[in-house]
Amino acid sequence: MKPLYDERLRRLRASTSAKKLDAFLVTDLKNIRYLTGFTGSNAYAVVSFDRAFFLTDPRYASQSADEVKGFRIRIFKKAVDEVVRAAQAVKAGVIGFESSSMSFDTHARLAKAFKGKARLKATAGLLKTLRSVKDPFEIEKITEAARLLDRGFTRAMKVAVAGAVEMDAAFSIESFWRRRGAEGLAFDTIIASGSRGALPHGKASEKKIKKGELIVVDMGVLLNGYNSDGTRTFVTGKPTAKQKEVYQVVREAQSAAIESIRPGVMASAVDRAARSVIGKAGYGKYFGHGTGHGVGLDIHEAPGLSPMSEDVLEEGMVVTVEPGIYIPGWGGVRIEDMVLVTKNGAKLLTSTTRDLVSL
Ligand code: ZN
Ligand code: ZN
Repeated sequence: MKPLYDERLRRLRASTSAKKLDAFLVTDLKNIRYLTGFTGSNAYAVVSFDRAFFLTDPRYASQSADEVKGFRIRIFKKAVDEVVRAAQAVKAGVIGFESSSMSFDTHARLAKAFKGKARLKATAGLLKTLRSVKDPFEIEKITEAARLLDRGFTRAMKVAVAGAVEMDAAFSIESFWRRRGAEGLAFDTIIASGSRGALPHGKASEKKIKKGELIVVDMGVLLNGYNSDGTRTFVTGKPTAKQKEVYQVVREAQSAAIESIRPGVMASAVDRAARSVIGKAGYGKYFGHGTGHGVGLDIHEAPGLSPMSEDVLEEGMVVTVEPGIYIPGWGGVRIEDMVLVTKNGAKLLTSTTRDLVSL
C-alpha cells in the first residue's frame, strides 16, 4: 500500500481555501512528512490552490529527490528567501502559517521579508485536524507498530520480573524492538514498580522489582514513522485483594470507554464513560489524566479524549484508551490499548491480554 499524497494535498487545499488563504506555509516536520514523504530534519512547504513547493537545504538535495512526491523541489541557501520566492510565484496575498511550530525568530524574519508584499496569518490545528483521520496506508503502518508493541509486552512478561532492575528490563525490550526494525521509541519506556506506579509517567529507574508488586509498563515503538502506545500492569506473584480490586475497576473503566466509541460520539463522552466507572468505585480522585489521545506520526495527536475536549470521533481515527488509578504510597494500575474508530465501533489494534498477569 502506498501513501495517498495527492489526496492529502487535496484535503489541505480544501481547508486552506475555506479559511480564505492564498497559500499555506508548512513548517511542522511531521506535517511535511505527511504531505510530501520527506523524512529529513529541515524543510518547508508552500502550498497554493494549484502549486506546491518543497524547500530544503543542500544536505537533503538527493534525499528529497528520492522521497518527495508531487511537489516542486527547491534547494535553498537561506530558507526565508526561498519561502518568499515560492509565495511570490503563486502570487499569494495572504499566507497561512502554523502558529504552533514556527519560531518567533523565523516569523520576524518572514514578516520583514513580506512587508508590503503579503500578509502572514496565524492558523492553528489545520493539519492536526486532517491528520486525526487516518488513511488506509496509515492504518496499515499503525497496525504494524501496534503488533510490534504487543511483541514487546510478551518480552516484558519475561524480563520485568521480581529481582530485575526496571532499566534493565526496559533496555531488553528496546533492543528486542531495534533488532526487529524499529526506528526508535515512541517515548521513554515507563516501567514503574511498587509505589513508583503511582507516578503516571514513572520512567524506568534503577529500582529493583520486588515480589508482590504491581508493575506499570507503558511503552511504544516507532516503526516506519508511526508510533504505537500501550500500557499493561503486571503483578509479581499472587495479587492481593486490593491489587485485584483496583485492577478490576480500571479494566471495567477501560471496557466501558471502548464500548462507548463510535463515529459521531464526543471524545469527552468516552472519557466520561471511563471516569464514571472509576468514580462510582470510589477512586475518582486517583484518576487525574485524560482517558486517551490520538496516535500517528506523533505520539500525542488529535483527538484528545479528556473532559474538556471538544473533538468528535470520526471513522478512521486511531486513539488510545488508558484509564488508570494512582494511589500515592501504594502504587498504580493503568491499562492502555490502541483502537481504530470504525463505523461499527472500536476495533482493537493491540491484542495483549487485558487479564491481570502474574509474573
Ligand atoms: Zn502510553
Ligand atoms: Zn498514551
